[in-house]
Amino acid sequence: MLPTITIDNSTCLGPLDCGQCLQICPMTVFIAGPTKKWKFRETDRKDYEVYARYYDQCVTCFKCVEVCPEECIAVTLENQGGGTEEDKED
Ligand code: SF4
Ligand code: SF4
Repeated sequence: MLPTITIDNSTCLGPLDCGQCLQICPMTVFIAGPTKKWKFRETDRKDYEVYARYYDQCVTCFKCVEVCPEECIAVTLENQGGGTEEDKED
């Protein structure tokens, strides 16, 4: 059963200014990368985003959900009955 990991990038502080999810994940699920690239110019800090690239490695420990200061990460698991199980926090 693979988890679904969503990141609300409209509230995320950005991997270069926060990056706590990248640091805490024991399975290195997250990566960071630029959303825009210009020739001969560095990408602005604000144009980097976090991606849950290796979500298939997630062990649903919810450490990323707990550490995120903006509460913009959601980790959900599909129940066998077809519903969803929200993260531990309530
Ligand atoms: S729930 Fe745990 S293993 Fe999964 S992405 Fe978050 S920190 Fe990583
Ligand atoms: S911990 Fe939250 S705010 Fe910080 S980089 Fe990760 S998703 Fe963004």
